[in-house]
Amino acid sequence: MKAHDGMYIGGAWVPPAGDAGTIAVVNPADEEIIAHVPAGTAQDVDAAVRAARAALPGWAATAPAERAAAIAALRDVLAARSDEIAETVTAELGAPLALSRKVHVGMPIVVAGSYAELAATYSFEEKAGNSTILLEPVGVVGAITPWNYPLHQVVAKVAPALAAGCTVVLKPAEDTPLTAQLFAEAAHEAGLPAGVFNLVTGLGPVAGQALAEHEGVDLVSFTGSTAVGRKIGALAGGAVKRVALELGGKSANVILESADLAKAVGVGVANVMSNSGQTCSAWTRMLVHRDRYDEAVSLAAQAVAAYVPGERVGPLVNAKQQERVRGYIEQGVAEGARIVAGGPEVPLDKGYYVRPTVFADVTPGMTIAQEEIFGPVLSILRYEDEDDALRIANGTVYGLAGAVWAGDEAEAVAFARRMDTGQVDINGGRFNPLAPFGGYKQSGVGRELGEHGLAEYLQTKSLQF
Ligand code: NAP
Ligand code: MG
Repeated sequence: MKAHDGMYIGGAWVPPAGDAGTIAVVNPADEEIIAHVPAGTAQDVDAAVRAARAALPGWAATAPAERAAAIAALRDVLAARSDEIAETVTAELGAPLALSRKVHVGMPIVVAGSYAELAATYSFEEKAGNSTILLEPVGVVGAITPWNYPLHQVVAKVAPALAAGCTVVLKPAEDTPLTAQLFAEAAHEAGLPAGVFNLVTGLGPVAGQALAEHEGVDLVSFTGSTAVGRKIGALAGGAVKRVALELGGKSANVILESADLAKAVGVGVANVMSNSGQTCSAWTRMLVHRDRYDEAVSLAAQAVAAYVPGERVGPLVNAKQQERVRGYIEQGVAEGARIVAGGPEVPLDKGYYVRPTVFADVTPGMTIAQEEIFGPVLSILRYEDEDDALRIANGTVYGLAGAVWAGDEAEAVAFARRMDTGQVDINGGRFNPLAPFGGYKQSGVGRELGEHGLAEYLQTKSLQF
């Protein structure tokens, strides 16, 4: 596949400053190397941050309507190049092409569009008594993104940052740098001024850490593992800079007794299996009343049969994630959970596939009921009554997403109000690109998407009259 051998800094592709070598990009479906990208160092990060700082005063001073037009142009380039981007996501992440088109490319185009609109309509000035409050850009943003939604994770940070008047340096995941390079090409083609968006490819502990530590960065926005998020939060705290963390999840799909069980189980299984389970908001714990438990387990086993590895479900992103997920499946068995579909065996000779797996007889204290697995693995837990269901739903360190199903919408809403989590879908409510997305508890700090996502990139100044 086509790849750049430089970094996108100050509006041009420039050779890496050091010689830290390259990163091989692997297609996880066949384990072939498809490209190499440069491994950036602290020097590259420094050059990119300088370019972003130089571009900041000009970009921050543009009229919101002008920023809106630039983001709309960026959206249009992404839309025009959507086939190429979808093929690239499929090549480096392994997602089936239909999923890449619809979700991996379709969703970020919508999100970019939402920020083109918000930049134009948001009120960057407020009144309170004898004060005028100015909502100003935070400054230079260091964005560090994971591989699970290679384009969405980038757009969910860059689009609101640009709308706010911030400039950006992006360090994308080492597994999916090609999509990030295409994004940089799109930013260039859309005519963003030089230095407003910059890209440094590289390894997390090298380029990522240098970006988080850089004193020219005013806000670090990170999405990824809780372990790395904790480090970045500590670094940002030490330097008194703003930080936004989108971390893991172990979300509960709560099926109340009055729910349409077949629908709730079917949608719940699809939610977990999509993107091979590599979704931070996936409903990986299904909670079912004891009287309907056996029926739910057999419905889930039937539903998961449609997820054939290599067809409807892709591989995991790399060999390490494959081993990690298989390890969790083995641990589930060792701790006494019952496999009703799938298992730890590798399903295909080639590619980092795992078998879509459903566990029954999972109890709340088991490792597979507590830790984020990040693979196509569903745990079904039994509850006695609603209070028990609530205790189980709220009984992890995470709180990112969730679902509630009930015969009566008001009953589902009443339960959702008691959940310690950032999002709850009621009876299969659709994804909303304008709804704030982010975590309670250890699922993170801050919100992405919509107006709340834009506010993350603003700071306030009060003028008294
Ligand atoms: P990760 O290491 O946290 O990666 C996320 C991003 O942070 C990547 O760009 C990574 O670079 C970078 N990074 C790594 N170490 C860093 C450091 N010391 N300083 C600054 N940046 C650093 O996540 P992962 O290892 O790819 O995945 C492990 C687990 O994280 C998964 O199994 C899953 O549980 C969770 N995860 C969650 C999400 C989410 O959306 N919340 C997304 C992905 C993974 P490299 O790519 O070079 O490592
Ligand atoms: Mg990593």
